Amino acid sequence: MGLINRRNLFVAGAAGLAAGCDCGAPEGLPAAAGAIRARALRMVTTWPKDFPGLGTAAENVARFIDEMSGGAIKVHVYAAGELVGAFDSFDAVSNGSADMYHGAEYYWAGKSKAYPFFTAVPFGMTASEIIGWTEYGGGQELWDELSARFNIKPFVAANTGHQLAGWFKRPINSLEDLRGLKIRMPGVGGEVMRRIGASAVALPGGEIYAALQSGAIDAAEWVGPWNDLAFGFHREAKYYYWPGFHEPGAQCAAGVNLDVWNSFTAQEQAIVKSACHRANYLCLAEFTHFNGSALEQLVKEHGVEVRKLPDDVLAALARESKAVLEEAAASDDITRRVFESYKAELLRVQKWSEISDEAFMTARRTVFSL
Ligand code: CA
Repeated sequence: MGLINRRNLFVAGAAGLAAGCDCGAPEGLPAAAGAIRARALRMVTTWPKDFPGLGTAAENVARFIDEMSGGAIKVHVYAAGELVGAFDSFDAVSNGSADMYHGAEYYWAGKSKAYPFFTAVPFGMTASEIIGWTEYGGGQELWDELSARFNIKPFVAANTGHQLAGWFKRPINSLEDLRGLKIRMPGVGGEVMRRIGASAVALPGGEIYAALQSGAIDAAEWVGPWNDLAFGFHREAKYYYWPGFHEPGAQCAAGVNLDVWNSFTAQEQAIVKSACHRANYLCLAEFTHFNGSALEQLVKEHGVEVRKLPDDVLAALARESKAVLEEAAASDDITRRVFESYKAELLRVQKWSEISDEAFMTARRTVFSL
């Protein structure tokens, strides 16, 4: 699976080739790195073709694997719909018809209600908080256990940072304005919207604009200013609401077929893991940088009205979010353990965030203000 050549086709260390040696370790130096086998892997994604940010993150994972393997491991990236549909990516990797995917874990909530915790849940962790939980708070271990049930090895491989609540054709002044509203919002956020009377759907990114244009939906969240500007949602809806209560730091993932993962040497595994982590780092940097300029452009050039959701609406969303998350936790053993680990981490870091990022950013505005 994914192996194009089972012969002894190796890419030797460049130093070894240059020296014309047999790659034995020179005196006083550790043994040379092992050979990396030539492979071609297929990566399916949940993103539209050439999509900035998340699509770029998937391409970066492929590019970094190629670079770090000295060209031995080639990863072909398929946009949503090219090999399988966006939401079929998980099954394709699980059953081995693709080798890896790049996507958002909350798309797999139908497999387990534990999955959204590894992307974002309403009123949950920010980008820096979730990577802390994943890497040091026990998140990765639980994620490995969950995904192994589906024959998948998961990695953090992107993060959009804060998202926004989305685009609305009409202003939201009260809870009443959300009742019956047809909105694109996937994940637990969508379920929360349903609880307060909206009709939430989970369309793939590439289908949102047409649904807004035709009137099939009245509102849509996608990501944030940069990605949303690229799709042109401001042409169909003028009201842009914050905060992104549903996705305070959406972490995206690469999932590798477990048989493929286990067939890698330790060195090849390190290359794949490092490629994912480097893509995550650059993705968050890219979103942080471009969201600022895109927000300015949306307001100044396109006359978008940026508004805060009313306090009573946010309070109702918070109340329902708590209920939905607690219900999810009661659905099965692993979701309960994931929820408890996530909640314990959040309660710890919340105290820290209050007196660090939260307090600091409020204070900083007195120095840097327009
Ligand atoms: Ca989103």
